[in-house]
Amino acid sequence: KRKKRLSAQEYADGIISGDRIILSRAITIIESKLPADVILAEEILELILPHTGNTLRVGITGVPGVGKSTFIESFGKYITSKEMQLAVLTIDPSSQISGGSILGDKTRMEELSNDPLAYVRPSAAGSALGGVNHKTRETMLLCEAAGFDVILIETVGVGQSETTVKGIVDFFLLLMLAGAGDELQGIKRGIMEMADAIAITKCDGDNVHRGKLARASYQNALHLFPPAESGWAPKVMTCSSVQNEGLDEILENILKFEKDMKEKGFFQSNRQSQNLHWMHETIDNHLKRAFYTNGSVEGNLNHLENQVIQNKLPAIAGARKLLELFNQTRTENDKN
Ligand code: GDP
Repeated sequence: KRKKRLSAQEYADGIISGDRIILSRAITIIESKLPADVILAEEILELILPHTGNTLRVGITGVPGVGKSTFIESFGKYITSKEMQLAVLTIDPSSQISGGSILGDKTRMEELSNDPLAYVRPSAAGSALGGVNHKTRETMLLCEAAGFDVILIETVGVGQSETTVKGIVDFFLLLMLAGAGDELQGIKRGIMEMADAIAITKCDGDNVHRGKLARASYQNALHLFPPAESGWAPKVMTCSSVQNEGLDEILENILKFEKDMKEKGFFQSNRQSQNLHWMHETIDNHLKRAFYTNGSVEGNLNHLENQVIQNKLPAIAGARKLLELFNQTRTENDKN
């Protein structure tokens, strides 16, 4: 049976009242590529925007196997045990390259999913590398309007997705393994530099000693980075998700960050520049799409590319010709 299509106002009211089913349906609209949904999504976003901004946004990253989903499950339950409402935007494992078994999907964050104070939403990232795409930010805003205190956004440490997540969260937590070299973990220096804290995972059993060593060595490595303008010094912590150890220290660190940065005004200014950046990025994306889907551009792109490859045309001349073609059709459209 088809569900009745709600109006933007009905969606917004449902979300703001904390209706999880309407929230989920609205996120599906946000993720949809259908032109009618794109317009509806923008209308919903405008209506809920005044109700956003009160949620602490935390990004969690790390290479596959570092223990992200286990950590989010334990850490998430710890957060809800403090009576905080939590939303989690997680990566749908079936959307990952390796693919996930049905059983694997089912057990992923199962306990947290059943927690009444938690809302777990696997992102239908599809082809997006690392599970984060340009819809993640809008999805996050919908969750904020629904009144969650904290939102965790999971991403796989592959590079591009970290930069995207860093650009939408307040606090960026990097999970790392003890005893594996940085190169082995595929963690790039730049990602360590973006982290507001590092947590060494799986510090239990035989791993406790190695975890402590790793903690000291990563803390030293962080000292080599230039200090942040905000004055925040990222801390390296250890934890065990299966033993529920170290989770309190991590939450404390995140809340201290929030308090300190709000006092200094960096929290707000970071969000302001994120918003501005997001606007420009959205414009860039729209312009690019308009350019490359323009008929004259499409019709001449191949030919001009070949000329540039064969050194018959300088690259900037090729670019100028295409831009002229684009501008011509645009002025013609304006006249009509
Ligand atoms: P992800 O790929 O980063 O999401 O990693 P998972 O959460 O799926 O964990 C990868 C593996 O590490 C699984 O076999 C987990 O059981 C194991 N693991 C995760 N956290 C811990 C922990 O705190 N201690 C121990 N001993 N194993 C863990």
